[in-house]
Amino acid sequence: MINDITLGEIPIQRIHDNFLSKSGIRLSILRLDLIHPEISGNKWFKLKYNLECARNEGRDSLLSFGGPWSNHLHALAYAGQYFDFSTIGLVRGELPYPLNACLQDAKNAGMELVPVSRADYKNKDNPEFAEYLKRQFGNVFLIPEGGANKAGVKGCKEIINLYPQVFDLVCIACGTGTTLAGMASTSQIPLLGFQVLKGKGYIRRQVNTLMQQYQLSASCDWNVCDDFHFGGYAKVNDEFLQFLTEFEQRHGLPLEPVYSGKMLFGLYQLFKKRDFFPQNYSILAIHGGGLQGARGFL
Ligand SMILES: *Cc1c(COP(=O)(O)O)cnc(C)c1O
Repeated sequence: MINDITLGEIPIQRIHDNFLSKSGIRLSILRLDLIHPEISGNKWFKLKYNLECARNEGRDSLLSFGGPWSNHLHALAYAGQYFDFSTIGLVRGELPYPLNACLQDAKNAGMELVPVSRADYKNKDNPEFAEYLKRQFGNVFLIPEGGANKAGVKGCKEIINLYPQVFDLVCIACGTGTTLAGMASTSQIPLLGFQVLKGKGYIRRQVNTLMQQYQLSASCDWNVCDDFHFGGYAKVNDEFLQFLTEFEQRHGLPLEPVYSGKMLFGLYQLFKKRDFFPQNYSILAIHGGGLQGARGFL
């Protein structure tokens, strides 16, 4: 069964520093990066019901989309290998030669890598493109980029079961909003998403769209902070990278600059605003894994 995967311990790490004690905020990090050595972080939750659907429909090949450092394709390749599916990854743009570490891992796990021009990639969600892909690759099970579909949202509802319900706020980084949509439809604790790409209100709209599409309603207050993306997806600056290095060293915790790093930087900026969070506020920030992607920044 698809649920039969050995999940690692998922510790909750309390963060202590002068800055937090001065502002009277309790911060803990859910180490979802430790859930599995290869199928990292929230990606397992977005994939599990997709794999189950594919199996129920009798399809033995999974096809999905992503950029050349995609955590989603990386996790999909391993999940496919683990559960005996063949996998096809449609990679945006040209395949780097030699392959980068992410794509090399995916290939080693058995994924067939197919480059897709940026122009075609823009059409990846069109029904005609899906038909074309089915003609080209046979009876494949299509999973949208980032696992952003009904099965993906369903899996993310389960993330709230990984921690005790004792926090005042739970924070996550958002790329497609799938994780936030799933969690916002089950959590009783308010949620704050940190948008990692540019576009005011983009994730807020995506989450609303996903929830409408799948007829979900919010079970808690949720909001999105879209001020800390540094100009776009995977964009960084020196101040941010320095914050990450210091944070990693001080707390012995690995971060990556695309998702969880931006969330933590954003949180610390909000901590600096007096009275943004009430005294003695207790926050859980979810480390979404994806550390393989940090290799793209070395
Ligand atoms: C994919 C990913 C996210 C974003 O999840 P969405 O459901 O697409 O919003 C956050 N953190 C990490 C580490 C990821 O790999």
